[in-house]
Amino acid sequence: MTVAIYPGSFDPVTRGHLDIIQRAAKVVDKLIIGVLINRAKDPLFTIEERVELIRECVRDLPNVEVKSFTGLTVDFARDNGATVIIRGLRAVTDFESEMQIAQTNHIIDPQVDTMFFTTSLEYAYLSSTIAKEAAFYGSDVSRFVPDLVARRMKEKMDALHREEE
Ligand code: ADP
Repeated sequence: MTVAIYPGSFDPVTRGHLDIIQRAAKVVDKLIIGVLINRAKDPLFTIEERVELIRECVRDLPNVEVKSFTGLTVDFARDNGATVIIRGLRAVTDFESEMQIAQTNHIIDPQVDTMFFTTSLEYAYLSSTIAKEAAFYGSDVSRFVPDLVARRMKEKMDALHREEE
């Protein structure tokens, strides 16, 4: 049985992430999405909120689980019996750092390999940061993120704007 993890910040999950999740879930037996607890200064969503949002979005994928984690990605993989790390590649700009991370991970734990999925063309430009920028300035972001996430982003942004007043 092949178990894979898909690690990331997912602040918040986008349609681009979901595209990778759906495709990866077809090629492995079990996919565990790992939401990284990092020290990024100003996340829009808490870890719990990010996990909950992804869970809602993957409800109909029976072989997908969502967890949060801290520390090394390879340790998270090993603790979950996973031998594969899934990552998405959007453009050449992703390539250099992703290659470096994958090689480092493979050196730390040779049992673990990274599998890259190239982004579907319609999401090649998309990142959580872009979606947040658009939402902040009042754009409808349902093209970028699932509808539920778009609604939650709007609530967050409305609260932020109220704080600014
Ligand atoms: P990180 O902070 O680890 O890059 P992200 O949540 O931004 O976490 O991304 C997690 C993974 O999803 C990365 O492999 C990233 O390249 C990939 N990814 C991000 N946006 C997209 C997208 N629009 N299409 C496909 N893959 C994406």
